[in-house]
Amino acid sequence: MAGQPILNVSDVWTMIRRDLPLHQHFPVDVKDVATRLSHEKFKDPITEIKGYAIPGFEGLLASNDAGTKWMIAYNDRLASPGRIRFTLAHEFGHYLMHRTFRERFNCGPEEKQALKAAERKIEKEADQFASSLLMPPDDVRRQFEGQPFSIDLLKHCAFRYGVSLTAAALKWRDVAEGRVIVVAVKDGFLDWACSNSAAYHSGAYFPTTRETIELPAASTLNRSIWDSRGQTGVVKTTDWFPAERGDTVVQEFSVIEQGAGYCYTLGILILPELESGQPRDSSRP
Ligand SMILES: [Zn+2]
Repeated sequence: MAGQPILNVSDVWTMIRRDLPLHQHFPVDVKDVATRLSHEKFKDPITEIKGYAIPGFEGLLASNDAGTKWMIAYNDRLASPGRIRFTLAHEFGHYLMHRTFRERFNCGPEEKQALKAAERKIEKEADQFASSLLMPPDDVRRQFEGQPFSIDLLKHCAFRYGVSLTAAALKWRDVAEGRVIVVAVKDGFLDWACSNSAAYHSGAYFPTTRETIELPAASTLNRSIWDSRGQTGVVKTTDWFPAERGDTVVQEFSVIEQGAGYCYTLGILILPELESGQPRDSSRP
C-alpha cells in the first residue's frame, strides 16, 4: 500500500461532505458509496462486497496479495438489514482511515475490552464513522427539531436511516440537548447503558461492566410489554439516582428491540435539567 494516501478522521469528513450528496439518499446505500468513492479517489479501490454465512464474524475488510484492490465481506445470516448496513459502513471506515496499517480487518462481536488499546481506538473510529455516515448529525437534529422525544420519532429515524432502533436511539442521545441515557434491559437488570456527555459529566451513568444493576422497582421499564408503540412513563429521579433532587422526575421511554438471536428492552431515560448551584455529581452510592 506504499504511496497510497492515508486519511485521518477529519480528512474523511471533509471528503464525505464535499463529494456525497448524502441528504438526498436515505437510507445511505453503503455498497454504492463505498464502491464509487473508492474508485474515484484511490488506486486500490473496493472491488467486491459480498455476504457470507460464516459463524463468528460480522464483517471483514481484506486486500488482495498485491494490495491493489480490496473486498468487504459481511455475515448475511445472523444480522438484521440495519446491522448489515452498519457493518458495511464500519468496514468502509477501516478502508478510508486504517488500510495502510494492515491488509486484513476481522470485525466480530468479541468483547471490546479484550482488544489492545490501539485496536480499540480504530474499532471506535470505524464505529463513529459508520454512525455518522448512516445518520449525519445535522439531519438527525432536523428530524427532532422542535418536537419532544417519542418512540414514534425514534421509529421514523430508524426507518429513514435503515438502522436499528438502538442505533437511532444512541445517535439521538448524542445530538440531544440535556441529559440522556440509553439502556438495554434483560430480566430486570441493565445489560448495558450509555450516557451522553451531559449526563456522564453530571455523574449520571451506570457502570454496567463493573456492577450488576437492577432496575428500580418503580421503573416503567419493569413492565415492558410486547407493544410496537412502546411505553412511556415517569419516575422520581431519586429512584434511579438517590443523590439527585427528590422533587424532579425522569421520563422513561421503552420499546422491545429484537432481531435474529437477540431480544431486549431498549430504554431511553431523559433526566431533569440540573439547576445552577446543584451538586454536579449524582453518582450512585
Ligand atoms: Zn472493525
